[in-house]
Amino acid sequence: MTLATDPAIAGAFLTVDLAALVENWRLLGREAAGAECAGVIKADAYGTGAREAAAALVRAGCRTFFVAHLSEALAVRAAAPGAVIYVLNGLPPGSAAIYREADLRPVLGSMEEIGEWMASGAGRPAAVHVDTGLARLGLPPEEALGGLGAIGFTPALLMSHFVASEEPEAAVNERQIAIFDEIRRAFPGVPGSLANSSGIFLTKRCHHDLVRPGYALYGGNPLPGRVNPMRPVVRLEARIIQVRDVPDGATAGYNGRWTARGPRRLATICMGYADGYPRGAGGTDAKIAAGAPFAQAVVAGMRCPFVGTVSMDLTIIDVTDLPRGEVERGDRVTLIGDGLEIDEVGIRAGTIGYEILTALGRRYARTHIGGA
Ligand SMILES: *Cc1c(COP(=O)(O)O)cnc(C)c1O
Repeated sequence: MTLATDPAIAGAFLTVDLAALVENWRLLGREAAGAECAGVIKADAYGTGAREAAAALVRAGCRTFFVAHLSEALAVRAAAPGAVIYVLNGLPPGSAAIYREADLRPVLGSMEEIGEWMASGAGRPAAVHVDTGLARLGLPPEEALGGLGAIGFTPALLMSHFVASEEPEAAVNERQIAIFDEIRRAFPGVPGSLANSSGIFLTKRCHHDLVRPGYALYGGNPLPGRVNPMRPVVRLEARIIQVRDVPDGATAGYNGRWTARGPRRLATICMGYADGYPRGAGGTDAKIAAGAPFAQAVVAGMRCPFVGTVSMDLTIIDVTDLPRGEVERGDRVTLIGDGLEIDEVGIRAGTIGYEILTALGRRYARTHIGGA
């Protein structure tokens, strides 16, 4: 699990607002009114701490959780003793006994997995994943319609997953909803689940019995390009270690990929790619020339650009535009928060907010606030 770095000596700080997480879960539940709202807490609750997230959501009334790995489910079980816990990545060969002992439910995605589950734990509840377009996990629709009935297996939950739910105009969404509806008709009485965070906002017709938000719980925007309805949950800060002045034409960072245009003031902060920030996120001469986006930090309320390539443990930022005396050794700069949302960080780093969150490193002093 995470290193409990002492805030007094830490170079960087991750603060997770559990009250905001719970508010987001409630908001998603209202949006999907009529369906149960689960919590997807895989990948250590998208980097925010699965045990803390599970405990806060259980107190708020959440009864169903999804993780990706069996090992994650075992870690969450202690924090959520009475909850239903599904493991999205299914049944590792020979693991049925572990599922049974910890009262966990696999999401079964092939006839082989279903066969092994039936042989070893007959009658125990499990979900079945049907592939409606992602071609990643799950039974092809024909197999679900034919094979499942033939072997007499009734899932506790029938689920599928969207290909592009964050693109409301994508035609594939309606195709997937139609295929899923057709399969559900073959299993009357079996609860269904299709929607992830963005899916919840697509149409009521994909809410079914259970919705499975992850990203939006943690403050990610389920509606890219539109106003984010979620509250921020994650705040990331790093300390300034040094401030220096460089002359016109000086380069900074490995391989000299950034060149000062005019005299600049640079601050070096205690955070690098070993802390999960993408190495290629910084502002290089090539990106600046191309008008491409690159990363920023917020210092004393002002946006300051990343300079050059992000190092393993350090990052340089340009603080020239701040008044002298506003930036000193020991000051904190904000990397997520103060209006710099996870989604924007992802775009500026050439990735998505999901990857920024789940890559959050182990060296941050982690604080959970707002827990009851
Ligand atoms: C990760 C995942 C979710 C949650 O998706 P978000 O986009 O984070 O809300 C739901 N269902 C499945 C199958 C997943 O893999």
